[in-house]
Amino acid sequence: MTSFEEISERERRFLIQTYDRYPVAIERGKGVFLYDLEGKRYLDFVAGLGVNALGHAHPRIVKVTREQAARVIHLSNLYYNEYQGRLAEKLCGQSGLQRAFFSNSGTEAIEGSIKLARLAGHKIGGESKTELVALQGSYHGRTFGSMSLTGQDKYRKGFEPLLGEVTFIQRNDVVALRAAVGDNTCAIVLEPIFGEGGILECSVEFLQECRAAADRHRVALIFDEIQCGLGRMGTIFAFQTFGVMPDIVAIAKPIAAGIPLGAFLAREEFASAISVGQHGTTFGGGPLACRVALEYLAILEEENLLENVARVGAYLQQELKRVTETYAAAKEVRGRGFIQGLVLDIPARPIVEQALAEGVLFNSTQDTVLRFLPPFLLQEKHVDRGVRVLKKLLGKKRRAA
Ligand SMILES: *Cc1c(COP(=O)(O)O)cnc(C)c1O
Repeated sequence: MTSFEEISERERRFLIQTYDRYPVAIERGKGVFLYDLEGKRYLDFVAGLGVNALGHAHPRIVKVTREQAARVIHLSNLYYNEYQGRLAEKLCGQSGLQRAFFSNSGTEAIEGSIKLARLAGHKIGGESKTELVALQGSYHGRTFGSMSLTGQDKYRKGFEPLLGEVTFIQRNDVVALRAAVGDNTCAIVLEPIFGEGGILECSVEFLQECRAAADRHRVALIFDEIQCGLGRMGTIFAFQTFGVMPDIVAIAKPIAAGIPLGAFLAREEFASAISVGQHGTTFGGGPLACRVALEYLAILEEENLLENVARVGAYLQQELKRVTETYAAAKEVRGRGFIQGLVLDIPARPIVEQALAEGVLFNSTQDTVLRFLPPFLLQEKHVDRGVRVLKKLLGKKRRAA
């Protein structure tokens, strides 16, 4: 068997070095657990950064993947396949939006959304209706368009010039929003809850103001639900939690249970701005990915997983709040459902590394935030295990009585 040293050494020699991986090679997974080369078991609070919402090796996903792979994996968008339309119908029904386009990733869903907003903007307001409004501290992806909307210098630095015409405002700053959005704005782009940015929610009031400003100036309100959407907040779409309807929503991470797939869904007014030949993709919306995504959505319903996310998410929140009450290094709990963060006043990465040794996978973001994006199958007993390890690692930092 290949050893960890061999695997990591080969990567060091042959991969373009863009990742700082944790020192473990995973061989397989089952449910909420992953197993390394030696068979050591890890409880997974990361779920492939929010992708593996059904955990690992879900029997129905394995079965449908096998079946479809034996029929046809890929077709190109030159031909019809049964599943792309079915998936679009399902997502439109669940969102109240009218049309879908399928991509391979989140960042491409954002790119497509911006392209749609630009086309619609030109139709509505002429050549000058091109400006974009986004939020400081946001994360939208790594391609040039999505990077241009990402309000964090560390992701942008060195790659300029990016898309001009992006105005960044503070999350929840209604006054700045009103000042930034005008007749030349074509889109407001935001995550209803920041994921990578540290688990920070937009207020309902702010989102309502975004909706009003978008209506006033005929602007596309685009929600990036790539991380928070498709169940993680306890509702299929995050906008349903906040009660504010976007014109376009971008989704990706969990949609096809680990097979790359993204999508954006749009209101007819915006969807109709694009015509044949103006956008496309080779891989996006293939029969395997779309059929697996349909199975994902069916499993969410049939296994009552949204109910589990709400219940166990509330339990996780309660237990993390207790941690903030007893451990000096733990400051604040943010988020809800299965997108939560624990803000520390110490660097989070060493905690993640020590937890790995204890057989628990956590993730950190923004240096001091522990981020929890567990599979929707997580139970209270798993929360107990994770929190036990967390307390042990924070132990030396116990609050004075
Ligand atoms: C992950 C993520 C993206 C980018 O998706 P990729 O599939 O990595 O391209 C964009 N927006 C948000 C909110 C994300 O969490």
